[in-house]
Amino acid sequence: MNEFIERKVQLTWHTPKRAYDVVIVGGGGHGLATAYYLATRHGITNVAVLERSYIGGGNSGRNTTVIRANYGIPEAVRFYQRSVELYQHLEQETDRWIMHKAKGLLWLAHTEAAIRGERARAEVNTAFGAKTTYVDPQQIKEICPQLDMTGAGVWPIVGGSYHAEGATARHDRVVWAFAEGAMQRGVHVHQRIAVTGLLMEGDRVTGVQTDAGPIAAGIVLSAAGGHVTGLAAMAGLRLPIRTHPLQAYVTNHYAQQFDAIVASTSLLFYASQTARGEMLIGAEIDRQPSYSYRSGHHLLQSCSHRAMTLLPFLRDLRVLRQWTGVCDMSPDYSPIMGKTGVDGFYITTGWGTWGFKAIPASGEQMAQLIATGDTPELIAPFGLDRFAKDRTLADRGSSGTH
Ligand SMILES: Cc1cc2nc3c(=O)[nH]c(=O)nc-3n(C[C@H](O)[C@H](O)[C@H](O)COP(=O)(O)OP(=O)(O)OC[C@H]3O[C@@H](n4cnc5c(N)ncnc54)[C@H](O)[C@@H]3O)c2cc1C
Repeated sequence: MNEFIERKVQLTWHTPKRAYDVVIVGGGGHGLATAYYLATRHGITNVAVLERSYIGGGNSGRNTTVIRANYGIPEAVRFYQRSVELYQHLEQETDRWIMHKAKGLLWLAHTEAAIRGERARAEVNTAFGAKTTYVDPQQIKEICPQLDMTGAGVWPIVGGSYHAEGATARHDRVVWAFAEGAMQRGVHVHQRIAVTGLLMEGDRVTGVQTDAGPIAAGIVLSAAGGHVTGLAAMAGLRLPIRTHPLQAYVTNHYAQQFDAIVASTSLLFYASQTARGEMLIGAEIDRQPSYSYRSGHHLLQSCSHRAMTLLPFLRDLRVLRQWTGVCDMSPDYSPIMGKTGVDGFYITTGWGTWGFKAIPASGEQMAQLIATGDTPELIAPFGLDRFAKDRTLADRGSSGTH
């Protein structure tokens, strides 16, 4: 399992055909996982994934790799727990080393109100299958000795929750593992082909227009990450999605071991250590909606200040790299998966700042929907029609950016 994927990986490229049973727009984790599960679980392999750049070049290769199920509402806890479990077995299933590591995730409380929030999180998680417990300051210090429990005298740590199955995995390896697994079974993955329009017959989507010509499809799935609103508009759909940039950064090597993933909603940052020993730090989205991939000093300054409040050792480190992705934010912080009301056109979107962890479960469930035509129970609450039916899934456990 520890063999480098670069030595084993076998990707086979094809010339695009003029028609497929299923065309998936977007070669990020969600598009590729759906293709993988279509092939492995349903034997559907006449599938093309069209990626206008390179696979994993979107958010799936830009995220901070946190995997967790400690969400705030039953529907989300059940769904993300399924993904946590699929991730736990993904290396064995794909025979690829995705560097999956269970680290445990600490969510810190600094006020009485936040303590109640973390207790509630632990309760709802336990009730719906995720392993989260309430922890007191002494237990927190044992889990993460580097924390300044006084919060620099301003943000004292008064409690928190601990999600034992919280994990990380190397993001581009996840993308490659799904791509390779799908391709080995006959799926065509096409890089550098952009979808520029949708083919319609009456009200039905019958394929895609691309910069390499038209491609007919029985079903078109949009898995186009932050660019979904443009694609959906081609089918006459207006989605409740805003695209916001999200930045993250890493420091140079930190000599000590930093085991857990640490998050604070009040201070709006989270931190973990990469396999190379760098400290990886993320924060909130940029407030202004935009498609910009620019990263800036303001985020570095404000986020580092907050992070150092709890983790003073960060003062001695240097920022090595900073980057940005563009996130498809839904108004209730929950994903949107399934049918759209336009025949032949499905979506998987609203993955915002939290969709890396969802890749296996969303791929599995979307594949089942495409294969059977029936929306699986696990994702039924997350349909687009929830907004029209006043059944939104506001989830405080989803905010906080990872
Ligand atoms: C800085 C940052 C940190 C994050 N941290 C976490 C985290 O810790 N945990 C977590 O769970 N989530 C996290 N996320 C969110 C997560 O990365 C995303 O939700 C997830 O990767 C979305 O995957 P996707 O497949 O939907 O989109 P993407 O990976 O963005 O893939 C979409 C693809 O579609 C392609 N595309 C778009 N339009 C077209 C077109 N017209 N034709 C062809 N191709 C097209 C794009 O080029 C892109 O490659 C983070 C995101 C960012 C930016």
